[in-house]
Formats: sequence, structure tokens, C-alpha cells
Amino acid sequence: MPIATINPATGELLKTFESNTDAEIADKLNLGQQAYLHYRQTDYAKKAFWMQKAAEILELEKAEFAKLMTQEMGKPFTSAIAEVEKSASVCRYYAKHAADFLADVAVKTDASHSFVRYQPIGIILAVMPWNFPFWQVFRFVAPALMAGNVGLLKHASNVPQCALAIEDIIQRAGFPKGVFQTLLIGAAKVADLIADDRVKAATLTGSEPAGASLAAAAGKQIKKTVLELGGSDPFIVLESADIEAAVVTATTARMLNNGQSCIAAKRFIVVEAIADKFEKLLLEKFLALKVGDPMLPDTDLGPLATPDLLKEIDAQVQACVESGAKVLIGGHPLSDRPGNFYPPTIIKDIPPGSPSAQEEFFGPVAMLFRVPDIEEAIALANATPFGLGASAWTTNAQESDRLIEEIEAGAVFINSMVKSDPRMPFGGIKRSGYGRELSIQGIQEFVNVKTVWVK
Ligand code: NAP
Repeated sequence: MPIATINPATGELLKTFESNTDAEIADKLNLGQQAYLHYRQTDYAKKAFWMQKAAEILELEKAEFAKLMTQEMGKPFTSAIAEVEKSASVCRYYAKHAADFLADVAVKTDASHSFVRYQPIGIILAVMPWNFPFWQVFRFVAPALMAGNVGLLKHASNVPQCALAIEDIIQRAGFPKGVFQTLLIGAAKVADLIADDRVKAATLTGSEPAGASLAAAAGKQIKKTVLELGGSDPFIVLESADIEAAVVTATTARMLNNGQSCIAAKRFIVVEAIADKFEKLLLEKFLALKVGDPMLPDTDLGPLATPDLLKEIDAQVQACVESGAKVLIGGHPLSDRPGNFYPPTIIKDIPPGSPSAQEEFFGPVAMLFRVPDIEEAIALANATPFGLGASAWTTNAQESDRLIEEIEAGAVFINSMVKSDPRMPFGGIKRSGYGRELSIQGIQEFVNVKTVWVK
């Protein structure tokens, strides 16, 4: 894939970038390693001061950063603004809490003094996706840098300007040179980087094949990885639920980020007793969505990020139809305009067990399933290889307990949309990946948990 900015709303090539040469990559590794040797000694107060500065820069220049994101990957400008604000919030969160999260923990043993100490490990490679070009990177950067590690970013090839802007923010915030660097490289260079002694661990957010490939390379080197991969999150609605509220959230949860979010609700599993009503209301909501220029404030749905994604989602929808499913609305790319536009789409009557029912649909396509009861709802929710998040709607406490207990996912949200929050751990199980980001668990992923025993 070329490293370039191509506006997804128009197809216009705005800027191309040369990949870093091998010599440039070697320089960056050297610089990162040199920076680490000093940076690892830096006290929390100083790191927190710089991290707060990064938050300030994000907040002050949010319109500029948001515009970059919209131009590079097509998300609505209003969501891009919210993403910059959320990125600032994760910087502030770890600036405030890192020292406590990584403080020595005394343990009573038969030693005269024994405790656990958390220490940084060195350069961490972050391979990141384009769909939340700022948030994904900042949720890595904030804990990694506050822990005393240094970061190397290999961002997705279609968001190079976002990648460079983030490097610039960290630099301007005052962090020493080399503590966070952006590499402009293709995916083929990742395995060599992981094999380099100076790179101690890696994190990847993206697709399953990318995650498997990075983890295999890291496994060969016995290096730790965190993987945040795809999802096909269920959105379960039971009879006692507030259906109107569920439909409003269902629409937001499916259309978020033009339908390209790992934790978007993708499979709507509704009990038969309320299925007609839910379907009718969901259709009304989808019909009311405004598709268009993502820079305009009243646009609900912008383009998909690349022409390949448009082709892919269309192929998935057509495969679904061939297997016997029905399209209620949408179902074909919008050919009346340039750019990668796909309309809000609802598919129903997907044959259970068909390959389509198991896949992740990375676009504005809702799959509607009907089930007789909670038993079947949970069984269907769990019938995918993924296990990222789940949203379930009920006002019955027993049902709620059961959903929390039995759904196979890294997160269950009752009567609410699945979302990430710096205060709560985020990550998946099954083929959605492993390890956690955010919260105390996130900052403890890339540290040496050192046992200290003094006699
Ligand atoms: P992708 O193609 O896997 O790309 C993600 C990143 O991995 C990019 O930087 C990409 O570089 C790189 N990459 C691709 N193949 C690689 C390989 N073989 N080895 C090493 N790096 C490789 O994913 P995407 O299509 O951009 O993103 C969509 C996927 O990400 C969806 O499945 C979505 O659910 C998932 N996602 C998960 C989370 C989560 O937190 N769980 C969050 C957001 C997205 P190039 O761009 O240069 O190819």
C-alpha cells in the first residue's frame, strides 16, 4: 500500500510520502534506544507535566487535528473533534494516575522486606489502524510513556499525516527527542523491527491476519505482544427492554465512525416478541440518516476509508444475499458520487450458521437476527470466533446477571453502548485478541514486574 493521503470522500490524492529507508529506520532505533537510557530515570512529576502539555496541545488545536483525520480516513468532522478531546483525556488520566498504578506494592513474606516493583522495559513498537487515528495511538502512548518506555509508531499507510502530527505533538509537549517516533513504513518491515534487540515488545490494533503475523514474528523472538483485533459485537434486545432507547443506541452503535469500529454493534439479536417493532423503528432511524460530506456538521455517515473496504463490504453483503438473506435498505455502493460511499444497510433472514453470520462487517451494515428467548440470544451472541464487546438490553435483573455471566466477550454493557473509557480496561478474548489497554491493567502490560526480596 502506498503511504499517502487520499481523501475518501472525493478519491483525490492529496499527498504522498516516501517510506523511511533502512538507514533512516536504523537511526530511529538508535535514537529511541539512546533516549530510553535517560528517559527511564525520569520522575513521574516531569513525565506527567509533559503529558498534560500534550493534552493541552490536543485541546488547543483540535480543529486542525480533526480535519486531518477527516481528510485522511473520512470520519465525520464532529466525531473527529470528539476523538481529539478523548485523546487529551487519556493523556490527563495517565498523567494523574501512573505513579499510583506503578508504585511499589509491599507483600508480607518471611523476608525482612519484600515488594513488587514495576519498571519500564524499553522500546515498544505500536502498529496501529486508521479507524481512530488519534485515539488508538494516544491510548498506547499515554501509558507507555508514563511507565518510562519509549514508543515507535508504525501507523496505517493511509493516515501518514496523522502519524506525523502525533510525533510532533509529543515533541512539542517537551518529551525528550526520540521518546516517541513515527516510522513511515509498510507492513512488510514490521517483522525485522520486532527481530531487533532494542525493540522489547509490540502492540497491534487491527485485523486478525495482521495480528497473527505480528504475534508470530514476536513469538520467534520471545517478545510480549498485546493484540486488539476485530469484533462482531452482538447487540441483544430482550422483551423487557426500553425498545425506543435501544433503537436509538443501536443506530449510533452501528454507524459510529461510518460503521468502521471494532466495537460497533454488528449483529442485532432481538427476541421474537418485539422483533417486528424493533425492525420497524430501526428502519426508520436508518432511513433518516444523512450520508454525505464528512466535513459538514449535519452529516451522520461519511465514506468508508478506502476503495478496497467499499469493495469488501459490498462483496460480503452480496454473499449474504446469495445465501438467502434479505436486504431491507441499502445494499449497494452509492454510485451517484465520487468517493467510497456505502449507504446505511439492514440485512435480515441470514441463515444461521452461514459464513456471513460469523464475519465482521466493517461498514454501515446491520445484521438482524430473531431468536425465541434469552437462551438462544446468548448462544447466537457467542457463535462467532470473536469476543470483543457486547451490548444487551433488559430491565430484568436476573436476565442482566445471566448476560453478564454467559456472554463470551472482553466487555458487556447493559442498556448502554459498548465504548472505551480510560478508567476501564479494554480488550478482547477469542480471536479478538489478548491483553488489555487503558486503566491500571493497560499500563501494567509493558513493564517488568520485578519481585524484590530483602533478607
Ligand atoms: P489492518 O489491515 O490489520 O491494519 C492495521 C495495521 O496493521 C496497519 O498499520 C497495517 O499497516 C498493519 N499491518 C497490516 N498487515 C500487517 C502484517 N502482516 N504485519 C504487521 N503489520 C501489518 O487493519 P485495518 O483494516 O486497518 O483495521 C481494521 C481492523 O482493525 C478491523 O478488524 C477492526 O475490528 C480492527 N480494530 C480493532 C480494534 C480493537 O481495539 N480491538 C480497534 C480498531 C480496529 P498498513 O496500513 O501499512 O497495511
